[in-house]
Amino acid sequence: MSEITHNLAQVREKIAAAAERCGRASEEVTLLAVSKTKPASAVAEAIEAGQRAFGENYVQEGVEKIRHFQDAGQTGLQWHFIGPLQSNKSRLVAEHFDWCHTVDRLRIATRLSEQRPAHLPPLNVLIQVNISDEQSKSGITLSELDTLAAEIAVLPGVRLRGLMAIPAPETAYDRQFAVAHQMAVAFRALKQQYPSVDTLSLGMTDDMDAAIAAGSTMVRIGTAIFGARDYAARPNVNS
Ligand SMILES: *Cc1c(COP(=O)(O)O)cnc(C)c1O
Repeated sequence: MSEITHNLAQVREKIAAAAERCGRASEEVTLLAVSKTKPASAVAEAIEAGQRAFGENYVQEGVEKIRHFQDAGQTGLQWHFIGPLQSNKSRLVAEHFDWCHTVDRLRIATRLSEQRPAHLPPLNVLIQVNISDEQSKSGITLSELDTLAAEIAVLPGVRLRGLMAIPAPETAYDRQFAVAHQMAVAFRALKQQYPSVDTLSLGMTDDMDAAIAAGSTMVRIGTAIFGARDYAARPNVNS
């Protein structure tokens, strides 16, 4: 068994155990494998092990991997853009990705909607909420959510699927849960208003259990699957 196959099995077990502890079905929680900085060969191993949803932070790198697997005839993959998005890169995201988790202003949402090719289904989008990390400039506050959601919901080229957050690192479970719970409350309120909303992207390696207990439907895991990242030596994606 390859290391990635082994790691994936462990992460899936952790998700199942966390779900079981709070009386949820493990199928309610989607595992997003974060493959940023990792070569296409690592993604291929994860695909071999049954993984289908992948998260990328850098537009160009993600697009190269998406093209690589398209050229290889691989179908059924789901590509999620989870990095900070600048306006000048929105077209590449609209043309190649299936999801964008980091929408935090109308201008970006409008561009994604206009730039989404007509032959593709609407781009699935999540609104990024800055729930606890005051250092971060990404994400809206919860008080801005209703207005932005209403504006995005009417755009034809995107489909509002829910919320995403990257909470400030916190080691105590109770603190992690308190923040995740705030997100879950906002998510459930949004879901009441918009039938298309079904996704709360919340939880990484260190706060996954608390996120799942609070109601996360998608956890984003990189290192625990693919190993530590080496930013100094960004690989050739085809290697
Ligand atoms: C990198 C990243 C992850 C995965 O982080 P790991 O610590 O490698 O599990 C999850 N979400 C976002 C937004 C990321 O940028």
